[in-house]
Amino acid sequence: MKLRLLFLFLALSVLGGHAQSEDEKQLKAIYDKALTDGKAYDWLNHLSNQIGGRLSGSVQAQQAVDYTKRQLDSIGLDRVWLQPVMVPKWVRGTPEFAYIETKPGITTNVPICALGGSVATPDGGLKANVIEVNGIEELAALGKENIAGKIVFYNRPMDRTSISTFRAYSGCVDQRYSGAEEAGKYGAAGVIVRSMNLRLDDYPHTGSMSYGETPVEQRIPAAAISTNAAELLSTTLKLNPEIKFYFKQNCKQLPDVESYNVIGEIRGSEFPNEIMVVGGHLDSWDLGDGSHDDGAGVVQSMDVLRLITANGYRPKRTLRVVLFMNEENGLRGGNKYAEVARAKGETHVFALESDAGGFTPRGFSFDCSDDNYAQVLGWKKLFEPYLIHLFIRGGSGADINPLKDENLMLAGLRPDSQRYFDHHHAENDTFEHVNKRELELGAATMASLVYLVDKYGTILPEKVKG
Ligand SMILES: [Zn+2]
Repeated sequence: MKLRLLFLFLALSVLGGHAQSEDEKQLKAIYDKALTDGKAYDWLNHLSNQIGGRLSGSVQAQQAVDYTKRQLDSIGLDRVWLQPVMVPKWVRGTPEFAYIETKPGITTNVPICALGGSVATPDGGLKANVIEVNGIEELAALGKENIAGKIVFYNRPMDRTSISTFRAYSGCVDQRYSGAEEAGKYGAAGVIVRSMNLRLDDYPHTGSMSYGETPVEQRIPAAAISTNAAELLSTTLKLNPEIKFYFKQNCKQLPDVESYNVIGEIRGSEFPNEIMVVGGHLDSWDLGDGSHDDGAGVVQSMDVLRLITANGYRPKRTLRVVLFMNEENGLRGGNKYAEVARAKGETHVFALESDAGGFTPRGFSFDCSDDNYAQVLGWKKLFEPYLIHLFIRGGSGADINPLKDENLMLAGLRPDSQRYFDHHHAENDTFEHVNKRELELGAATMASLVYLVDKYGTILPEKVKG
């Protein structure tokens, strides 16, 4: 009797309980497929371990184009193609070398790497006194008399109290990007920048830099130094401001070469002229294998096109995966894609980028109208079972940003960011630091949003509607 009651209770609680909506079922199917039959991790394994770092213009970047095209060809899309784009080609050359010299002949080697786009040092390297600053703002007060002939050492650390590590990054990255251009104006001989890393360790982190309008012959070499070595250099300078720093790098900017965005699409069944884009960038820096930045975003985006058809769903709108080339040191791929879309008069209604690492997804940031944001907030509850809680307004992704217009809803996947800058642009951005389930959850989270946008459409501004 007791047992029968129990069965009755269970049966009633299932029947009388919350009936699953169509959307709940579809999201569950997407997550189930990602976690049991996802392809993202295998694809990432190949990109990372068989190909490796994919700097624009390199052999590896071309191999990544060929490989991802082949994989997209194999998953039954309606169309897969390559979009040509000219990209810059910068090469690092032989590994960099640096030391702190406290007295003639007394040296301590320290880990550095050239910043992307930097010029080389003279053949014999560069040795000079060092002046430490907390940022570009300090240069003017110091003036030429304190800077000329020296190496400027930018040592403002990322703000450890910022929970958004991307905000901490934004608060520092001007030193890396414009540090050489600015210090050059005061006659500096070179620039050393504290790595954009919240952790104290021995990895130098590269990244893009610019000389602005500086004539070629006036450009000074720039390198990143590991955070541990930045601390050492700073302490050593406090003890003796007369120490010298030596570094040697032989990187080079070569002429532009042709490369490609890799694109695949499923044609919409009802509104084929409304295009939705999901993407990441195929190029990476050269020190690691670019697993988090942005191999993860690439393979997640590719898998979105498989996952969304879970349960037999057929997208109403045209869904494109775009693997952008050259985000890191030029954004040529993102600009080219937007340029071609405009020239063809294509209507893009939605674009989603994953370029913040392959860590546990937390949610999305949205760059869209109030109406579209309100609609998205209405979907938030559907994501709660998957611990996706973050629906905020903010930037989306560098590659999709050039598409921006008032008809377009932009979004960026927001994974947990606490460990991202341990790896970003450094030698330890490698496959073993990406967790399979976390990567798959990110792909499913993206596919779920794409499904909802496809099903319900976006809300166009009044004047376009009329
Ligand atoms: Zn990236």
